Amino acid sequence: MIPILELKSQYVTIKKEIDAAVFRVLDRQNFILGEEVDMLEKEIAIYCESQYAVGCSSGTDALMLALMAIGVGSGDEVITTPYTFFSTSSAIVRLGATPVYVDINDLDFNINPLEIEQKITEKTKAILPVHFAGHMCNMDKIMEVAGYHNLAVIEDCAQAIGATYHGKKAGTIGDIGCISFYPSKNLGAYGDAGMCVTDHVNLASKMRMLRNHGQDPKYYHLMVGGNFRMDEIQAAVLRVKLFHLDEWIDLRRANANRYIHSFIESNTPVVLPYEYTGQRHTYHLFVLRTNNRDYVMHKLKESGVGSGIYYPLPLHLQPCFEHLGYNIGDFPNAEKSALDNFAIPVYPELTDKQIDFVIDVIRDAL
Ligand SMILES: *Cc1c(COP(=O)(O)O)cnc(C)c1O
Repeated sequence: MIPILELKSQYVTIKKEIDAAVFRVLDRQNFILGEEVDMLEKEIAIYCESQYAVGCSSGTDALMLALMAIGVGSGDEVITTPYTFFSTSSAIVRLGATPVYVDINDLDFNINPLEIEQKITEKTKAILPVHFAGHMCNMDKIMEVAGYHNLAVIEDCAQAIGATYHGKKAGTIGDIGCISFYPSKNLGAYGDAGMCVTDHVNLASKMRMLRNHGQDPKYYHLMVGGNFRMDEIQAAVLRVKLFHLDEWIDLRRANANRYIHSFIESNTPVVLPYEYTGQRHTYHLFVLRTNNRDYVMHKLKESGVGSGIYYPLPLHLQPCFEHLGYNIGDFPNAEKSALDNFAIPVYPELTDKQIDFVIDVIRDAL
């Protein structure tokens, strides 16, 4: 059996450090926003090469905090992609604003920056690109159009911590970068957690306040925030794992390259993931495309190999967003991707033998 993701074998390699970190928190009996969170924020800021980092309760809440900090609210519009996890859009909608979609590129699943400008209105407040699977968007073009129209840019880096774009880390090109530490992410906690990175001191302090009910000092509320706090056990676990992150990303990249070379050499009729020059793809997901997707996934399952669809229904077609008024055919690239993509295991602990087995199953199926 080769599951799409397997966390236990990673835990085994760091069990001593993790267990010690968790017991350190238990001994201290300080569970929320304590010294582990403080230290993690400093370490993530250093890792991401950002001035400030604000820990919070999830990637979803990181998006909420970022949008609240830049003042997105009722009547505002935020330009974003329909091809992402739900919370990229739900955070916008929960604040009373409207997601305005731009289709993705066929090649890399990321928002097509050339179609952003035509969607800008006087209600547009921000652009919210998503670095899909760990490969960054065309940030030069996005920052150019944002700068011209004076719009904030929030990067959804949930899948892309550690990715780089011409020497810059994911999350540091726009105004705020939002990171998820959901257990399955490349840097995963042992529960829910997230973080915002920014170079703006005013946005950092606003998010710090908003994540804890907008209070300063305690019980005096300047803003209506929420409980978006990070807990100490998660921060302690993440501090251990952050130390290994680059080594794990390199292993993911090596696994991805083994797949890519093998599929090219054997002429397997699949569309392979793409890495633009000057970028570091983190391969949170290794996403392939074929017209025979369902058959290939069936064959993988028969052979004991896990696979997944990221994502089966683009956000503009979700039942809960029906009121936005979009229809089938509005974003052809997103809709096509939903029908022909599938992701295969790429986690760091995979062996070459396991990778070769997955390759053989796919090649035989096609
Ligand atoms: C995982 C993910 C999120 C949400 O993060 P949570 O920590 O699960 O709340 C948001 N956006 C993208 C693109 C994601 O992959």
